[in-house]
Amino acid sequence: MLKILIHGSKGRMGKAVAACAAAEGDVEIVAGVDAGDSLDPGLSQADAVIDFSAHDAVPALAAACAGNGKPLISGTTGLTEEERQAFRDAANRIPIVWASNFSTGVNALFWLVRRAVRVLGEKFDVEIVEMHHRLKKDAPSGTAQTLAEIVAAERRLPLDRAARHGRYGLVGERGAGEIGIHSLRGGDVVGDHTVCFAGPGERLELTHRAASRETFARGALRAARWAVGKPPGLYDMRHVLDLDPDAAAS
Ligand code: NAD
Repeated sequence: MLKILIHGSKGRMGKAVAACAAAEGDVEIVAGVDAGDSLDPGLSQADAVIDFSAHDAVPALAAACAGNGKPLISGTTGLTEEERQAFRDAANRIPIVWASNFSTGVNALFWLVRRAVRVLGEKFDVEIVEMHHRLKKDAPSGTAQTLAEIVAAERRLPLDRAARHGRYGLVGERGAGEIGIHSLRGGDVVGDHTVCFAGPGERLELTHRAASRETFARGALRAARWAVGKPPGLYDMRHVLDLDPDAAAS
């Protein structure tokens, strides 16, 4: 039985992980920790930690996991550069799987987008559109950010200059190197992402729609089973799903 501590246990995703663990049968939730709770004694009892909480909770959690030798699986998004660095520092001592999206379908989308950029070339303009429920706190979504990072990396563009977050007013013609990123919010949408490649005379759109949080929870549990016993390093779902054997742990 894999023993898991859920960090952010009272949230939408924390509850989905607990429900999935109960259904899958080979995972025991030994502790649930939310804002204001202590990580002890649950952390010492756990084989791994699954985190869906808030960006500013990440540095302390990563340091505690590293100090106690516990693998960390985190899906928390909206991280600042300093908070991302906290993962990198802790990953010198423990395996960490951080994924902006734990669903198998979205990770297939990442793979497809990488290849579509290569096949279609620079004549195709790329725009990314995401939609989430009205309670989501960060924008763009972590998944849209990952999609933009994939496009920028394939095109060797600095994302901070290429990203175009929405348009308003007399913005002029679209620049060739722009990557448009647009966030819609409303209702109870679990998570939709479309990457639009608009070229001369044709358009390709790749869309993923999540219908339930179960898909993220199942992916996080799969990542936890995978991470236990792995060497220290910062991993993502490419490693867990063996989607890209060339992807090195950072
Ligand atoms: P939520 O607001 O429903 O839940 C977050 C929980 O974290 C809350 O219960 C909150 O009290 C708790 N929390 C806040 N600060 C904390 C702290 N310091 N210590 C412990 N707990 C703390 O949000 P959610 O929809 O469950 O999403 C949580 C995070 O996961 C967000 O960043 C979201 O974008 C991300 N997310 C990722 C994926 C993925 O597949 N990677 C999927 C869905 C959501």
